[in-house]
Amino acid sequence: MTARVIDGKSLAAALRAEVGRKVAATGFTPGLAVVLVGEDPASSVYVRTKDRAAREAGIDARTIRLPADTSQDALLATIAGLNDDPAIDGILVQLPLPRGIDQRVVIEAIDPAKDVDGFHPVNVGYLADGRPNLVPCTPLGVMKMLRHAGVTLSGARALVLGRSAIVGRPMGALLLAADATVTIAHSRTLDLAGECRRADILVAAVGRVEMVTADWIKPGATVIDVGINRLPDGRLAGDVAFEQAAAVAGAITPVPGGVGPMTVACLLENTLTAASRRRAG
Ligand code: NDP
Repeated sequence: MTARVIDGKSLAAALRAEVGRKVAATGFTPGLAVVLVGEDPASSVYVRTKDRAAREAGIDARTIRLPADTSQDALLATIAGLNDDPAIDGILVQLPLPRGIDQRVVIEAIDPAKDVDGFHPVNVGYLADGRPNLVPCTPLGVMKMLRHAGVTLSGARALVLGRSAIVGRPMGALLLAADATVTIAHSRTLDLAGECRRADILVAAVGRVEMVTADWIKPGATVIDVGINRLPDGRLAGDVAFEQAAAVAGAITPVPGGVGPMTVACLLENTLTAASRRRAG
């Protein structure tokens, strides 16, 4: 068997174009503020990508660059200003933050109505309650990929490998909301391979190069690779051994060109959603 490759790049391009069309039709310009503290090279690349994609979709994107030695109080003051700014509909604080700044305090300072990353406890709570509001972009993108690929979610056994607040946990909650039977696995899970082999849908979000091998995959399963791992030679690799996995899976996402581009596209969609809701009162 050779798996169907789910092309995140083209799906993301279509979603970005759709958001652009909807923005043009709204009659207002959504505003997105991306806050970058310090000069982490990977974060700088992500922020540039988000800024450019937002502008292309007609969103007024502002990147606020703060020095690495910014105090937590100064960052909180910046966020308070953005919360009060009527032209700003979405606020994203690029993670990770420098040492000495408490990430949780910063995220909790963002107005939940402008929380386009979906990390604020209020939005986490809505999702846990089965009423998704602003949802984290990566798992939201995965759900769109699954639906686009025509994967049956209701009643499917789904295994999420990883339980982080930004990917694994919200991914599990979204799959559950879509009536899948969900298992969330992590570093303390016993018989990881066996758990994975039972899954009709396997979402890998561990950050370990090609940890998921062909013998972990149920024949015909859908495999979503969230992992982005930088190899010593600079290339990117996923959490799934793509070539061998594709010989067993029914459908699979590549790295790069899979989940990554969908994450950015979903940020634009969340910004438009936040803007439309705020402006509707
Ligand atoms: P975290 O490091 O926050 O979480 C990793 C999770 O994997 C943890 O729950 C951890 O378990 C689990 N884990 C780690 N090692 C093992 C192991 N050997 N066996 C079983 N479970 C293990 O990572 P993130 O969730 O932030 O990111 C995961 C991957 O996704 C990374 O490669 C990241 O770069 C990528 N990513 C991609 C995005 C995209 O847009 N495509 C967006 C965000 C992330 P435990 O909780 O027990 O420690």
